[in-house]
Amino acid sequence: MALKQDFMNKIYFDNSATTALAAEVIEVLIDSFKTTFANPSSVHGLGKSAKKKIEEARTFIANSINAEPNEIFFLSGATEANNTVFKTCDYDLIITSPSEHASVIEPAKASHQEIFWLNLDQEGYISLDELENILAQNTENGVREQCPKKILVSIMHANSEIGTVQDIKAIGNLCEKYKAIFHSDCVQSLGKLDIDVKDSKLDLISASAHKLHGPKGLGFIYIAQKLQEHILNKALIIGGGQERGFRSGTENVNSIIAFAKALEISLNPEKRNKVKELQKKLWMKLKNLKSVILNGPQNLENRLGGNLNLSFMDLKFNSEQLVLQLDLRGVCVSSGSACTSNKKNSEDSFIESSYVLRACHIDENIAKRAIRISLSWMNDETELEKLTEIITKLV
Ligand code: PLP
Repeated sequence: MALKQDFMNKIYFDNSATTALAAEVIEVLIDSFKTTFANPSSVHGLGKSAKKKIEEARTFIANSINAEPNEIFFLSGATEANNTVFKTCDYDLIITSPSEHASVIEPAKASHQEIFWLNLDQEGYISLDELENILAQNTENGVREQCPKKILVSIMHANSEIGTVQDIKAIGNLCEKYKAIFHSDCVQSLGKLDIDVKDSKLDLISASAHKLHGPKGLGFIYIAQKLQEHILNKALIIGGGQERGFRSGTENVNSIIAFAKALEISLNPEKRNKVKELQKKLWMKLKNLKSVILNGPQNLENRLGGNLNLSFMDLKFNSEQLVLQLDLRGVCVSSGSACTSNKKNSEDSFIESSYVLRACHIDENIAKRAIRISLSWMNDETELEKLTEIITKLV
């Protein structure tokens, strides 16, 4: 009998927050819990076999983004990866955007270096012209020619709340032209969009297994070879010297193996198409409702598969209230990024709109009513119909 997640009769549409383990991933995990328990640093056969499985997973993951295996370093997740970027790179100017995840924004601020916040348009896109201007101004031929800056550009590939997909290839070309380090938080895009670190001139990326039906507590940072001599000697966690000394601690072998499996499943073109189709179908159903507004990119083709961010203007509920109403009816969605909801205190929890929507200059009235529906290949059309029925009744 295939082992499966139990959704307890709930419809789960919160796949940008996290995902359920895929059945094949559970099987891989259970098998590896039983057989791959040895410490990969041990010199005996079982240890060597665990080490070999880690290296196979590393190679698979590296190939999927056109990186080399020695450019992938496993760690506890994307929060750690993003922190690692800001705590180990050498820079004195950060260029980033206000719609980044908190695990980019907070370490950027904590670095006490100068930050330039790029403007976003209503769909959440940065302006490449603005990026080029600020890069040019701060380099040898610009206004700061006397003291050019060492620049770190950090722009996420796909936004977790509104599904905006940035043109990382164009950003990478600009970073190369102006000799800036280019980091991208690829948590929401890994396995769902094509990533080619060489083609996009990426120096660093952050990724996490639990957004693509893999286990929680495991991610990786990709560090381009050319940057390694400046970064690897600045490890944040030292000790046993695992991950070539960059991230000490006995490796999370089972989750590493499961991450590669989850990625393999995600890369399946049928699954990717299914998510896009479900997204289109749900929007076709819901857009007929009175006063519904789609926040973020209006052209679904340019939007991260599975993401819909909607404001129902005729409903008397604000975002959180609507999330609770849907939960009462067995549907899990969210009002924004799961990580920021931990930060709200009781006073403002029912009044503050998403910082991402605010950064995109979305009217406060609309932003306060926004909910995020995030689908995965595990969802099906019956679930879309159920949600449409529930929302139609509420409206
Ligand atoms: N970056 C983005 C865009 C995310 O959506 C998340 C998770 O919510 C993270 C970073 C943090 O990832 P992790 O949960 O692996 O620390």
